[in-house]
Amino acid sequence: MKQSILVVNCGSSSLKLALFDENEEKLVSAIAERLNEQEAFARINGDDRIVELPARANHKQALIALVSAFREHQFMPAAPTSIGHRVVHGGEAFREAVLINNDVMEIINDCAGLAPLHNPVNLAGIKATREQFPEIPQVAVFDTAYHQTLAPHAYLYALPESYYRDWSVRRYGFHGTSHFFMANETARLLGKALATTSIISAHLGNGCSITAIKNGSSVDTSMGLTPLEGLVMGTRSGDIDPGLFDYLSSRGMQLAEVHKELNQNSGLLGISGKTNDMRTLCELADQGHEPSALAIEIFSFRLAKYVGAMMASLNHLDALVFTGGIGENSSRVRQKTAGHLKLLGFDLDADKNEHNGRHSGGRIEDASSRFPILVISTNEELVIAREAARLAASF
Ligand code: ADP
Repeated sequence: MKQSILVVNCGSSSLKLALFDENEEKLVSAIAERLNEQEAFARINGDDRIVELPARANHKQALIALVSAFREHQFMPAAPTSIGHRVVHGGEAFREAVLINNDVMEIINDCAGLAPLHNPVNLAGIKATREQFPEIPQVAVFDTAYHQTLAPHAYLYALPESYYRDWSVRRYGFHGTSHFFMANETARLLGKALATTSIISAHLGNGCSITAIKNGSSVDTSMGLTPLEGLVMGTRSGDIDPGLFDYLSSRGMQLAEVHKELNQNSGLLGISGKTNDMRTLCELADQGHEPSALAIEIFSFRLAKYVGAMMASLNHLDALVFTGGIGENSSRVRQKTAGHLKLLGFDLDADKNEHNGRHSGGRIEDASSRFPILVISTNEELVIAREAARLAASF
């Protein structure tokens, strides 16, 4: 029987589906957005005319509508042979992807306190898909799992130890699927075995994180208990002084308000006062808008500081790797970041960088650079599809 793998990715207000064949070719993709809002809508292969969602469609309704459109329009002539779900938080329970059963679903539910915007919708997606395809093996792939190899000195905060023991307060890290893909791709591009490949992987999208990978395993990462820690992001502050909470409270702000500001109104958007979109920021900066230029400076400087920090975990480095919408496309961010890292021996080739490494096998470093610097397109869906196919084979 021909294999096909359905990948399901439920975000807080969106649902993405992708169907792969056994040769890892993507057969169809779909996205439903603005779920639970009046204007909920969906596109299949970029076309918004194929399927119509009911107003205020939730994740389950969107999934049912998309799956029946896939069937009706012959995008998915037969049921998939396996299904992979992106799940944001697996706590300490999952060090790798797992076949989903009732116990697994219960643990995903137990982890919801650590990812309240994501785990409940991930679970809703799993339940709805199980109803649609009760016989098909389903697999959960966790954003946190790849970082479960961090040692205590990297994952514990300098807090009273009871916080970890009683409340599970520790660094979990996110974007694990993407960082894992980066490690594999770098190993492949450099012709090395994963088990001897050590990289610093910078995933720069709307959310941003950087990970030190030693001999194929994650050993440190910038996101923490939640995805708010670390780098400057589109709308998230990344690192701040925890004393800020007390100070803002003395100015009359409530905790919920501060939380919202740090997550939704900070980062590139907060600094620029204009947008969280790096492409637009670059255009604004070119037109002389100083806050936008400053947002790019702060973003790149923080990133460079973290590259330095990640080197503390490694004893050799095969490559610094950029990915995500910004990492893959913004030569300006890469150039500014590398500019802060001359002392460590990182040096870019201006032309290769300008072309995002497209004509140089992803390589953008200058011959004088101490380390290779790479641009790689991430593909989290493919990792999820591979894990689903692998585990379904043992079903
Ligand atoms: P998400 O985390 O939502 O998947 P992406 O990985 O698509 O996000 O990254 C989105 C970011 O990538 C935005 O800030 C966008 O402006 C930026 N980006 C995309 N293309 C470019 C480009 N050509 N130059 C600069 N930034 C870009």
